[in-house]
Amino acid sequence: MKRVGFIGLGIMGSGMSMNILRAGFPITVWNRTPSKMRPLIEAGASGASSPKEVAERSDVIIDIVTDSPDVEEVILGPNGVIHGARPGSIVVDMSTISPIVTRRIASELEKRGVRMLDAPVSGGDIGAREGTLSIMVGGDEDAFQECLPIFKAMGKTIIYVGDHGMGQMVKLCNQILVGINMLGVAEALMFASKAGVDLERAFTAISGGAASSWQLINNGAKLLKGDLEPGFKVSHYLKDLRLIMEASAEMKLPMLGTGLVYQLFRALDAEGLGEKGTQAIIRVIEKLAGCSLLNEKTKI
Ligand code: NAP
Repeated sequence: MKRVGFIGLGIMGSGMSMNILRAGFPITVWNRTPSKMRPLIEAGASGASSPKEVAERSDVIIDIVTDSPDVEEVILGPNGVIHGARPGSIVVDMSTISPIVTRRIASELEKRGVRMLDAPVSGGDIGAREGTLSIMVGGDEDAFQECLPIFKAMGKTIIYVGDHGMGQMVKLCNQILVGINMLGVAEALMFASKAGVDLERAFTAISGGAASSWQLINNGAKLLKGDLEPGFKVSHYLKDLRLIMEASAEMKLPMLGTGLVYQLFRALDAEGLGEKGTQAIIRVIEKLAGCSLLNEKTKI
């Protein structure tokens, strides 16, 4: 059984690493804020003092941190994975980052005989906790096959999509859908509210039909409770939108829906709501509509 290293125990990484542990893999964890390592260590993981030390003790080193510079830091930085990884080991970056940076990191690791996979995920904090993530994997296909039992501990839909960076490209496609969908959910609920429809009943009726979606069922339900706490933070989604706009500009591809979503999320961030969940887009919709989702009394 492969020895797994896990770096980044945030909203996603905490659940994912716990599922690897539960599947019986020996696991070494590291997090920049050490207190977040405690639940994992109490459950049987061993703790390390740096990403380098994680790599020294592991065959497969997984990281899920925030943005491209953070992945560069934990893998290529002074105390990074690259200084502890042995030739033949595999680095799996599960963060959502720039496909270009992914390729650069993969080529640095390759010089040391270390293989890399980009394996971003979809399914949110719930999927991370329940082990039901979708995992889209780019890089060396043999390395993918070797890591498959570990991926199966974290996800249900696990697809090899091509060479280095292609996992990130597919994840960006996912993020195009996430935002446009979330905007639709917020707009539809506001429409229902303004029309004086009972929101719970509207939600139940729509959830069972052709317009249902993950965003409606999970984030729509949060909106009905007035819950703006993050499964997925606005600040992280803005990073993904930036990556989509950069890649589409390079491909000279118009992105009408995503362009609108980008501006709305920027407005949300400017309101100081960057640490809230993406469902907080309702605040921009409310501002534009001049009314509140849960307290609207207007009827037509
Ligand atoms: P999060 O809760 O903010 O956690 C971020 C993690 O990265 C924390 O463990 C943080 O350490 C660590 N980190 C950030 N910068 C670092 C650095 N420079 N050096 C070392 N550690 C660093 O975020 P998350 O929601 O788990 O998201 C993580 C990644 O998954 C992001 O790329 C995000 O886009 C992606 N993702 C998120 C979701 C979701 O629904 N949440 C879904 C799919 C994909 P500290 O604890 O010390 O801050």
